[in-house]
Amino acid sequence: MSAFLKAAEDHLVRYGGDAFPNLFTKAKGTVVTDSSGREYLDFTSGQMCATIGHNHPAIVAAVHRAGEKAFHFFSGMIPESVAELAQVLADDWLPGDLSKTIFINTGSEATEVALRMAKMYTGGYEVLALGGSWHGITGGASSVSMASDRKGYGVPAPGVFVIPEPNPYRPYFPGLDEEAAALANLDLALKLYDMQSAGKGAAIIVEPVISAGGVLVPPRAFMQALREAADARGMLLIFDEAQTAFGRIGTRTGAEYFDVVPDIMTMSKTLGGGLPLAAVSTTAAIEEDIHAKHFTYYTSHVSDPLTAEVGLAVLEVIARENLVARANEMGAYLRGRLEGLQQRYDVIGDVRGLGLLLGVELVTDRESRSPAHALGALTTRKCFEKGLSMNIRRRPERGSVWRIAPPLTVSTDEIDQAVDILEAALRESLH
Ligand code: PMP
Repeated sequence: MSAFLKAAEDHLVRYGGDAFPNLFTKAKGTVVTDSSGREYLDFTSGQMCATIGHNHPAIVAAVHRAGEKAFHFFSGMIPESVAELAQVLADDWLPGDLSKTIFINTGSEATEVALRMAKMYTGGYEVLALGGSWHGITGGASSVSMASDRKGYGVPAPGVFVIPEPNPYRPYFPGLDEEAAALANLDLALKLYDMQSAGKGAAIIVEPVISAGGVLVPPRAFMQALREAADARGMLLIFDEAQTAFGRIGTRTGAEYFDVVPDIMTMSKTLGGGLPLAAVSTTAAIEEDIHAKHFTYYTSHVSDPLTAEVGLAVLEVIARENLVARANEMGAYLRGRLEGLQQRYDVIGDVRGLGLLLGVELVTDRESRSPAHALGALTTRKCFEKGLSMNIRRRPERGSVWRIAPPLTVSTDEIDQAVDILEAALRESLH
C-alpha cells in the first residue's frame, strides 16, 4: 500500500457515497487519472461540475489571472470580476426579469440563500418541495431534500411539505398519461398543503430535472402548474439549476426549456467548472424588497474574485465552443447508443433525460420493473475496472439509475468507447 493510501485510511473521515479503492492525481478533459497512471473516462463530470471538461485551459488561465490580481477580499469589497459576472449572467443567461445575483460557494449554500430570500420576502416559512429532490446537505437544504441523507441528524426545519415527484416509469397513479399523472400528484399535494398551511407560505423549490432522484424530466405542464400554484399563494418559485444551468440539458437554463420564469434561480456546479462557485439570482423588485428588510448573507467566501474569474471563463467557453448546442448533438448520439443497448438487454428498462443529462434505469425484468440494485452495483464496479467512471443512483423506492453526464466537450469517440465498456461490463455481470 502506498504511503498516501495509508494516510487516507488512517486519517480521513469517511463521508459516505461510493468510495474508490485508489487515489487520484490528475484530470483533463473527459479523462481522470489515478496514482498508478491508469486513466478513466469520466462520465459523471466529477460531481457534475466539469461541464467544459476537467482543467480546461481557460479555467487554468483564469486561476493564474486571479493569482496576479486577488484571490480574496473583505466581504464588503466588491471585486471587479464579481460585478462583471453578475452583468454577464443578467445579459446572456438568466431568464425573464432576473437580474440581481449574489455569489457564494456551493449548491447547498445557494439553497440556503434562496430560502432565506423567500422567507424574508414573504414573511412566511412554509416550503413545498419534491420528495425525490436533492437541494443540498446543510440544515435548510437537506430539510427540502429527500429524507434518506437526513436521518440521524436531529430535527429538520419545520414547515416543509412534500409534492411527489413525477415519475412516468414508476407512477403513483398508473393508468393516467404522464402529464395527467404529474398534475394529479400536484393537485393532491396542494390540497393537503392548503388544509395544513398556517398561511405562512414562502416558496416552492424544484430542480428542472430531478437528477439525484433518478434523472426525471417533469412534463412542461407540471412546471407551469407550479408557477401558478406559487402565484396563487403568494409564494416564490425557486428553480435549483445546480446541474441544469449553462447548457447541460441543451438549453441555456431549465427555465428556458420549460418556458417558466422562477422568482429565484440557484446555480452552482456548472458555473464553477470544478471550483467552488455558486450563485443565486432574483428580480430587482425582490432584491429591493428584501434589502429594505435588511436581508443578510455573508460568509468568508461571498463574492470571491478567484471563483468569479473562473465563472467568467466557464461562461465564455460555453458560448465560444457552442456547448449548449453540442449538449444536444452529443446527447442525441449518446442516447441513441444507449437505446441500442436497451434493445439488446432486457435489464435496461428505461432510457431518459435531456441533452447530456441522461438516466438509464436497470430492472430485473421489464414486466415487474423491480430495481436491479445488485446488477447495477456490480456493473458499475466492472465499468470502473475497465476504465469508465459511472454514477449509479440506488434508492430502494426509486430504482437503480445510472446518471450519465460526461462533459459537454465529450467526443463521439469517447462516447463509443464508454458505451462499449458499459456493454462489456453489463454482459459480464449478467453471466
Ligand atoms: N442542488 C442540486 C440540484 C444538486 O444536484 C446538488 C448537488 N448534488 C446540490 C443542490 C448541492 O450542491 P453542493 O453539493 O455543491 O452543496
